[in-house]
Amino acid sequence: MSKIGIMGGTFNPIHDGHIRIAQCALQQYHLDEIWFMPSNHPPHKPDHELASNEHRKRMIQFAIDGCDRFVFSDFEYQRTGFTYTADTLKQLQEKALENEYYFLIGGDSLVDFQTWYHPEEIVKYATILAAGRNGMSTGELERLCRENSELFGGHFFSITMPPLTVSSKEIRAMAAEGLDINTYCPPKVANYIAIHGLYGQSKKKIPGNIPEIKELLQCTLRPKRFYHTLGVADTAVLLAEAHQPELLKKAEIAGLLHDCAKYFSGMEMISMCNDAKIDLTPIELQNTALIHGKLGAYLATCRYGVNDPEILNAICYHTTGRPAMAPLEKIIYLADYIEPGRNMDCKPYSLCQIRRKAFENLDEALLMVLQNTITFLKTKKQAMDEQTIKTYQYYKQLMEEK
Ligand code: ATP
Repeated sequence: MSKIGIMGGTFNPIHDGHIRIAQCALQQYHLDEIWFMPSNHPPHKPDHELASNEHRKRMIQFAIDGCDRFVFSDFEYQRTGFTYTADTLKQLQEKALENEYYFLIGGDSLVDFQTWYHPEEIVKYATILAAGRNGMSTGELERLCRENSELFGGHFFSITMPPLTVSSKEIRAMAAEGLDINTYCPPKVANYIAIHGLYGQSKKKIPGNIPEIKELLQCTLRPKRFYHTLGVADTAVLLAEAHQPELLKKAEIAGLLHDCAKYFSGMEMISMCNDAKIDLTPIELQNTALIHGKLGAYLATCRYGVNDPEILNAICYHTTGRPAMAPLEKIIYLADYIEPGRNMDCKPYSLCQIRRKAFENLDEALLMVLQNTITFLKTKKQAMDEQTIKTYQYYKQLMEEK
């Protein structure tokens, strides 16, 4: 049997108070795991202050990153409309009878527990663990535990926790004023809020230099994507050094930002493009993975403050290529394919052959990658972007004319 703590809430955004309750409950009640379970965003109730499900999920993932026993749960996201704790716990119980559930709440929630939807049901399925909040004394917390237990039955226990005066509401208000929220939530969450302009903290923190760009990328991309990004930036720098040293700095920035949009879902990318008035082709709508180049160039401008057209084009065309690419576009296109983290078995040219060629002749290496890409898409029977075919034909003819 596993002892599971459920940390429910809006997490709009997650903050140090949530993490502290979870840590204290885990230790004091010897729980096996804590599941952070954000409530769903009811589609019929638009709330301009409520960040999207994906944003709240990413912030939770960043906040609990590295804590083995903390788990993100999308259990309530899977349901539509209002999600009541009583229903959630009942369904969890039905799904996994072997688990013993503990529901974690703050003292403020305990005060108005009787107004919750079917409190007598909640306590049937979980033990309530409550932490003091807003100056609540231990005595007061224990009295509330006793009173609720007398009213609804079930078990209510207190969590001993040093008080932490923080709330999501305060953080949202501070973010809107552009104040530093680092002391109230994990730094990666604070950066995520800044980079996405959540809660009105829009464009307050446009990075000015490469270390800041890296820091912000690390707070948005998943770790594997982030390391790929570093690999592309390093490879792009080496290629620039070999072919066009004056492009060194631009190569590093374009390499770092080439995938800066590659963590949104297909639907999210489409809706962001609609908002930003970015046209999408039928193939892009069908194969949404192709959109991240265009959207990345847009984000590079409005979130990372990059205005150089050479860099923006290199980001925009790094997946499909285009005829007559500028040197920086070729460098990023190639670096993305050959960076040291890549180890795919590709045909007709091996990675080793392409890596060698890339440092001798950019156009020839480009044609090899295009040929590989077309072979791969044909084998997988995937729709091919017209731009990729045009690019291939352009470079094939160019090589034949030489
Ligand atoms: P908001 O300010 O938007 O109302 P919140 O900070 O209360 O949000 P929620 O996500 O609604 O955060 O909270 C989830 C649970 O965590 C609730 O039971 C709440 O009482 C508890 N909680 C949040 N912050 C603290 C804190 N600083 N100390 C103790 N409990 C807390």
